Amino acid sequence: MQRQKVIAGNWKMHKTVEESTAFGKNFQNKILENSTVGIILCAPFTSLFQIRETLTGNRIGLGAQNMHWEEEGAFTGEIAPAMVKSAGCSYVILGHSERRQLFGETNETVGKKVEAALRHELKPIVCIGETLEERKDGKVETVLDEQMRGALDGIDTAQMQNVTIAYEPVWAIGTGVNATPEQAVEAHQFVRGWLKENIQDGIGQETTVLYGGSMKPANAESLLRNADIDGGLIGGASLDVDKFTELVAIATELS
Ligand code: PEP
Repeated sequence: MQRQKVIAGNWKMHKTVEESTAFGKNFQNKILENSTVGIILCAPFTSLFQIRETLTGNRIGLGAQNMHWEEEGAFTGEIAPAMVKSAGCSYVILGHSERRQLFGETNETVGKKVEAALRHELKPIVCIGETLEERKDGKVETVLDEQMRGALDGIDTAQMQNVTIAYEPVWAIGTGVNATPEQAVEAHQFVRGWLKENIQDGIGQETTVLYGGSMKPANAESLLRNADIDGGLIGGASLDVDKFTELVAIATELS
């Protein structure tokens, strides 16, 4: 199966409703309707509904950056899967390293969220990745294994069709220092091997595996030209409509 290249933006805690909709309109005018690249924008909760209203058609997939696993209830400040869905999302980023490091997310809670997302027909973009210390200690594969085990516990082959993995080394996120293509490919191959071994033979090759960590127009081609790297989850460079459009163009060239 030929996997499609995907460019996904993670705006983190940036952009008001007005700024988000201005970006959406501008971006929509710039991208090629016939591009075969998958495009996803993961915006703050407050902007989701308005962006969905702004975008015409379904060319651009909309995603949230987190959600709770419960259906509803006394969880002040949290957002339920059905709310994310009804705001117009088809994707949700889960287990981003900032959520793990700053907001106490664990492999176990990420697993609950993945299960809840799939139950609500939301496609999770599951983030995994090691810290610099873990890399220096030779623990990359151990960490990725633990994170995948937690996130994908009980997930079957059919459900995996809707799961995207984003390999995001923590030391590369927002630092300007990207993983080398060799480092990224090595991790992506480990992820594919893990999926093959732990879920099903063909799943390793069928799953979309993105790279995230300081990807920008200047380094995207060297990363995206590798067959094992299906695209990028992009933080900083996704905030600028010209840079994000350029990333879509680079991915399109390589498709
Ligand atoms: C991210 O937040 O997922 C990310 C990859 O950020 P940046 O591109 O800014 O490193």
